[in-house]
Amino acid sequence: MKDCIFCKIANQEIGTEIEYENDNVIAFKSIDPKARIHLIITTKKHYDTILDIDDAETIQDLHKAIKEVSQKFNIYNSGFRLINNCKEDSGQEVMHAHIHMLGGERLRDAII
Ligand code: AMP
Ligand code: ZN
Repeated sequence: MKDCIFCKIANQEIGTEIEYENDNVIAFKSIDPKARIHLIITTKKHYDTILDIDDAETIQDLHKAIKEVSQKFNIYNSGFRLINNCKEDSGQEVMHAHIHMLGGERLRDAII
């Protein structure tokens, strides 16, 4: 989608380093990290929110990415937090479906 920052990253139109890739999903470091490790796991194809993903293989590849990215960053065993902001009330800023993966430290301020 035109003017979507995550589409531009997925299409390699800007120089963001891709840390992980599978058939339908990529991951890269957040530009504004909220933990020692903060990755954005997102779809190559544009979907506005996680609710709009209608492709089973993409859902499967998101799950695969969660496992493989956490392995790559050595937080598979120590643990991590996944956050998805969906639509306005959540504060979603980038309207291209994505999951935040936070870890690499003992996370505090758990809200649930
Ligand atoms: P959200 O509020 O869930 O939409 O979060 C958007 C996330 O994308 C935030 O963590 C931003 O820091 C991150 N972000 C925005 N632009 C970029 C970019 N160009 N490269 C990497 N991360 C970005
Ligand atoms: Zn997009």
